Amino acid sequence: MSETTGTVPRQEAAITVLGGPTAVIDLGGLRIVSDPTFDEPGPQGYLTKTAGPALDEDALGPVDLVLVSHEAHPDNLDERGRAFAKAAPLVLTGPVAAGRLGPAAVGLPPWTGHSVPRADGGGELTVLAVPAVHGPEDGERDADGNVNCEVTGFVLTGQGLPTVYVSGDNASIRTVAEISRRVPDVDVAVLHAGAARVPAKFDGRPLSLDGRAAAAAAAVLGADTVIPAHYDGWAHFSEGLAEIELAFHEAGLSSLLCTAPHGTWVRLPS
Ligand SMILES: [Zn+2]
Repeated sequence: MSETTGTVPRQEAAITVLGGPTAVIDLGGLRIVSDPTFDEPGPQGYLTKTAGPALDEDALGPVDLVLVSHEAHPDNLDERGRAFAKAAPLVLTGPVAAGRLGPAAVGLPPWTGHSVPRADGGGELTVLAVPAVHGPEDGERDADGNVNCEVTGFVLTGQGLPTVYVSGDNASIRTVAEISRRVPDVDVAVLHAGAARVPAKFDGRPLSLDGRAAAAAAAVLGADTVIPAHYDGWAHFSEGLAEIELAFHEAGLSSLLCTAPHGTWVRLPS
């Protein structure tokens, strides 16, 4: 199911999580990086990073596309991650974040798509922006009407490719259900599943999925492959891989969960 990256050659269809939210998605001949974070451990404002990435920027080589779920929080886009995104040929994110990220960024409102030519001769890869709710549904809304802040999830589709959903920081099963209704054939789900909590926000309630909610999300989506992300590397997670694995076990869904050491590929079903 997985192999060591070595020099990080491009894979036919595989994903590796580097730590925190950062995932490398090789699909359709393209190298895509979601929520790039490459800083060393240390304090980042009100958050504390406890581990650096399994691979640094240079090990990835040129990338084709960066997905930024939100730019407002340093655990999803730190300083080196921001520089990495700004150097990429294309960044897809939400409209508010795009305004802050500069010319390479295209802001996609929920349910709008952006297609890019594939490098494997297979036509196009389409990225659909999908909603995400970064806290409890009844949480206080910001000036743009978002709980916590604007967050964008992404669904990647292409002829002959597995359909990949990247959740971003989302705590809402209702939102996952809406995505499942509109995109009924998700094969692979990259779920931010560390149940992030910050005492000052929403009475400390989760800002992202916990293990049980991730298992529920996997069931609702009908995904065959679930790759957890954003459950370690920062001090504000209330669940880690052990809790996620237990939750999938208790739900009888352990067979869906595909984990590998950070920096190690998980091959995707074709
Ligand atoms: Zn966040």
